[in-house]
Amino acid sequence: MKADISDLFSSNKGVLDFDETSGDVQGVVATGMIPDYIRIPDDGIRVRGQFRSAGQFIYLTGTVTVRYKTNCDRCLREIEEESSFDFRRSIAVSGGAGRGQPAPDDGVDREDVIAAKDGAVDLDPVLAEEIALAIPTHFLCSEDCPGLCPVCGRLRSDPECRCAEKKEIDPRLAILKKLLDNSEEV
Ligand SMILES: [Zn+2]
Ligand SMILES: [Zn+2]
Repeated sequence: MKADISDLFSSNKGVLDFDETSGDVQGVVATGMIPDYIRIPDDGIRVRGQFRSAGQFIYLTGTVTVRYKTNCDRCLREIEEESSFDFRRSIAVSGGAGRGQPAPDDGVDREDVIAAKDGAVDLDPVLAEEIALAIPTHFLCSEDCPGLCPVCGRLRSDPECRCAEKKEIDPRLAILKKLLDNSEEV
């Protein structure tokens, strides 16, 4: 996703609002930063925010909303989730009017500086980084998801699964066996 910031220079406001929904998330996925348990549809990323021109930099503050499919940790069912989070970046403009490289003691974290080229900012690496950091690592289809039976592979709440009933009998059999073993020893 590219943000056109040329209006920021042509207008004198020094502020540019934007609200974009992705049409293609390949650029974000291609960074390799999105965990593979997250599947984002092409229109799954929305970015709202503001570019603000200040001195040598442009400051970007925004909110990312990402819709994705993943799987429940317990029952593996596919579920749809949505996460929203805020982010900010400083942008160094190359070839911009009167804008040079930032001075080393300007208090700006080098790691957070991205470059604008030909009046546009490539947001894909930023979005990938933010999504990778903010996305949860565990998902449940519901808080009380019973999970899968390790014996038959059905949902534990499935009436077809009777493995738990069998398990209840097992300890009693074990005690009986122990008693028999002991009586043999006497
Ligand atoms: Zn589940
Ligand atoms: Zn079972």
